[in-house]
Amino acid sequence: MIVVHDNSYSEICFDGYRAPSLLETPGAKEVGVEILSLSKGWNMTGWRTGLMAGNADVVERYRHLKTNLDSGMFDALQRATAVALLDAADFPREMSSVYERRRDLVVEALRAIGLAVEPPRATPYIWTRVPAGYTSGSFAETVLERAYVVVSPGSAYGPSGEGFFRISLTVADDRLEEAVRRIETSLQSGILSR
Ligand SMILES: *Cc1c(COP(=O)(O)O)cnc(C)c1O
Repeated sequence: MIVVHDNSYSEICFDGYRAPSLLETPGAKEVGVEILSLSKGWNMTGWRTGLMAGNADVVERYRHLKTNLDSGMFDALQRATAVALLDAADFPREMSSVYERRRDLVVEALRAIGLAVEPPRATPYIWTRVPAGYTSGSFAETVLERAYVVVSPGSAYGPSGEGFFRISLTVADDRLEEAVRRIETSLQSGILSR
């Protein structure tokens, strides 16, 4: 068995926090690999560029598999990725401050409707418990019907996600502000203690 750490948000961190890498753990390279992506930190979603590092044998087997599945990425994407890593290494920090501001906006709104939200130190998502009396599904439905805002039911990510919901911060500021306003105005009036 090998450990494959999908570390797509490694660069998106808040309040000076630095997210750990699997590979800092002693012995990690004996048992696994880490996968990093430029999708989130560099706003290159859909470009499918990233890297795998760690156990040499696993990396080699993956390389072998990959060369049988497809044959090299469009050259311009590879070059753009190199430029992003070499000349725009600080860009994820800028993105992190954008997400940090959006996080604060959403956390404030959820607290205003009575939810005890723990602000995340990393990731472009808010993941938190639904209020008492709701399932993931019924809460997502209520938010949709009352505020016309889509939140993801935690149960969509597997059985352990039941009882939680997720809000993505990858939405433009003005739309997120609108969503937050609607949540505050349409869910405040006693909905959480029905
Ligand atoms: C975005 C994302 C991916 C996809 O990464 P790509 O580099 O865009 O293929 C994989 N895992 C997680 C957890 C993600 O959020």
